[in-house]
Amino acid sequence: MSLIFYSDRCTACGQCVEVCPFGVLSLEGETLVIGEGCNLCGACLEVCEVEALAVPEVAGPAPRPAVPPDGVWVFAEQRHGVLAPVTLQLLGEGRRLAEALQVKVAAVLLGEGVAPLAPTLLTAGANQVYLLEHPLLKNFLEEPYASALTELAQKFRPEIILAGATYLGRAFIPRVAAALQTGLTADCTAFHIDLEKRLLLQTRPAFGGNIMATIITPRTFPQMATARPGVFKPRAPEPAPDGEVIRVVLSSLQAAARSRFLSTVLEIKERIPLAAAEVIVAGGRGLKEAKNFRLLEELADLLGGAVGATRAAVDAGWLPYPHQIGQTGKTVSPKLYIACGISGAAQHLVGMQSSDFIVAINKDPAAPIFKVADVGLVGDVFEIIPALIQEIKKDRR
Ligand SMILES: Cc1cc2nc3c(=O)[nH]c(=O)nc-3n(C[C@H](O)[C@H](O)[C@H](O)COP(=O)(O)OP(=O)(O)OC[C@H]3O[C@@H](n4cnc5c(N)ncnc54)[C@H](O)[C@@H]3O)c2cc1C
Repeated sequence: MSLIFYSDRCTACGQCVEVCPFGVLSLEGETLVIGEGCNLCGACLEVCEVEALAVPEVAGPAPRPAVPPDGVWVFAEQRHGVLAPVTLQLLGEGRRLAEALQVKVAAVLLGEGVAPLAPTLLTAGANQVYLLEHPLLKNFLEEPYASALTELAQKFRPEIILAGATYLGRAFIPRVAAALQTGLTADCTAFHIDLEKRLLLQTRPAFGGNIMATIITPRTFPQMATARPGVFKPRAPEPAPDGEVIRVVLSSLQAAARSRFLSTVLEIKERIPLAAAEVIVAGGRGLKEAKNFRLLEELADLLGGAVGATRAAVDAGWLPYPHQIGQTGKTVSPKLYIACGISGAAQHLVGMQSSDFIVAINKDPAAPIFKVADVGLVGDVFEIIPALIQEIKKDRR
């Protein structure tokens, strides 16, 4: 589409040339020339007194299609026959959303020899499990996983698809969204339902974590979103789930054309993986230098926990990146989070504020971390932590 120009009305006054923010308009003698790069912003229209310029009419958005029949889906991520914890967390959240919408929640389980995982999915809240077993799905590769989930979604038509923002989810879920020609909101931290409009409200940090944006997918289905591990909590297990397992066969699955599975290499993990730790003692710039993290390690060891860090501490080289908690690190929700010398920047809070109980130690009483803390200790970490360690040791003698 390009700018409409009525040369018979133009008086060559040059006002449009002056206001064009992109410099695409110019006058050659008495003739207006429209160059490359016009984005139809309309600034020129506002100053043209003789209405010699116009932008083409754009058709309004297409009406929203009818709500698809198949409720909420959760992609059941598994590797080597072990379910990723985010699957159970999302099933809990998916069930909550499905109950609000009065629909079912289904887990979609892809792999080979993974049928034994289905009962766990039902216990975790799924009303249905779509089970697709195929040799091509044995080891994760983006192409067959994306085409399998796309085809299943086209066949059964879910209203919502949720998946973990894990390495695996990030690798193939965007392909599925693109193939289904719908939107995808990555790394959500909260979901709500607008019942009146029947929309999934997908909240995630934006602009470097300084604001929380709520995103909607108002014109296409399914509404798709990913959430990081640790953001949601699993439901209490159903003692006698009455859901069903639906075996699906897809004849069209094809081997990946551009990638092939070579081998699995074990990741070098932290002492206790942060994501699984029930207690996390985390340190920030207030720890002053790397060697002071030994204090936190001692406290964490006594409490059977793991050590985390802010980005400031990781950037300073005091702890390696796998320990970073926050927007660009891990999201955690332990039972106890002890924040030591951490100011509580929005980008850090987003990764830990769903912890069950937060203790903050900071010498600045106005530090924002105290706003999310259940217990705040205003004081010097180098006095408070040794005192805590001493008390715990005394208690255990
Ligand atoms: C795009 C983007 C992504 C980011 N991602 C992350 C992320 O994933 N994780 C993250 O953590 N940050 C992230 N950040 C950085 C974030 O904005 C903050 O800069 C960072 O969290 C601050 O770390 P801090 O609390 O350790 O340091 P500071 O903000 O410097 O706070 C240090 C605190 O220690 C206290 N203190 C000092 N000495 C003592 C003492 N002796 N005893 C007690 N308290 C003391 C001070 O009062 C202060 O409150 C990101 C930023 C951007 C722009």
